[in-house]
Amino acid sequence: MAEILDGKRVAQALHERVEAQLRRVAGRGRLKLSVVLVGDHPASASYVRGKQRTAEKLGLDGEVHHLPESVTEPELLGLIDRLNADPQVDGILVQLPLPPHIDERTVIERIAPEKDVDGFHPLNVGRNLAGVPAVWPCTPAGIMAMLDFYGISVAGQHAVVVGRSNIVGKPMAQMLLQADATVTVCHRKTQSLTEYTRRADILVVAAGVPGLIRGDDIKPGAVVVDVGIHRVNGTITGDVAFDEAARVARAITPVPGGVGPLTVAMLMVNTVRLGLRRRGWGGDVL
Ligand code: ADP
Repeated sequence: MAEILDGKRVAQALHERVEAQLRRVAGRGRLKLSVVLVGDHPASASYVRGKQRTAEKLGLDGEVHHLPESVTEPELLGLIDRLNADPQVDGILVQLPLPPHIDERTVIERIAPEKDVDGFHPLNVGRNLAGVPAVWPCTPAGIMAMLDFYGISVAGQHAVVVGRSNIVGKPMAQMLLQADATVTVCHRKTQSLTEYTRRADILVVAAGVPGLIRGDDIKPGAVVVDVGIHRVNGTITGDVAFDEAARVARAITPVPGGVGPLTVAMLMVNTVRLGLRRRGWGGDVL
């Protein structure tokens, strides 16, 4: 049986690093994360609550701006402008998806790059691509922290990423590349996906398809990271058929309890990193 990569344990370790930095600067003021939620998408509302709760548990100010579904794009941009200009706000996150009458690109590009905790602003995407320090998107950054925590070496390994979204797949592939993996990216148009996945030493699956990856698709001894999260017949499952995969893999993330907690923990890390940098308080979390 594969080793279970416990996202909650890694998240705890990241939380401790965040708390250490917050203790160090406690005399100077509090750092603040501002989350913007538009409408009443139930999953989004629960993600936002989780983010706010974690922020406050760690000693960050967590503020939620909940706007109605009917908010106009100029109104939303106006709020972002105010948060950009507010010296007390260290990180700004706009929960996606946004309603169809609002252009996500316009909104993402309006966030001040130095407060962009998701790392989605094109300036930060470009900096990351060029290897200039910026914060990386939370999910792939959390996965890299997990590989590090469990002593899984990446350099020289063949990493296969299934999915090429801007949020997960693309930045994941870049992070693995910068950690000296040989990287293959698969997507919807990939022919014979299994031929690629079977050659992965590290397999990261972020396709949004329940049970896409079966035991047979995995190289014996591989490390398998499942980013998917789905409710199927009342149970939560991922993009990987866990029981089969766990018999073949060396290590695997469960769903839930794998990648999910890491994403939120990394959001806290990014908020504190950006806050320390912007305020000139020195130090870093990682
Ligand atoms: P996420 O936010 O988890 O990255 P998205 O739905 O934004 O999910 O993106 C899904 C990605 O997965 C896309 O890049 C798509 O090409 C890829 N994908 C979807 N279905 C398959 C499939 N059957 N095989 C390989 N890749 C797939």
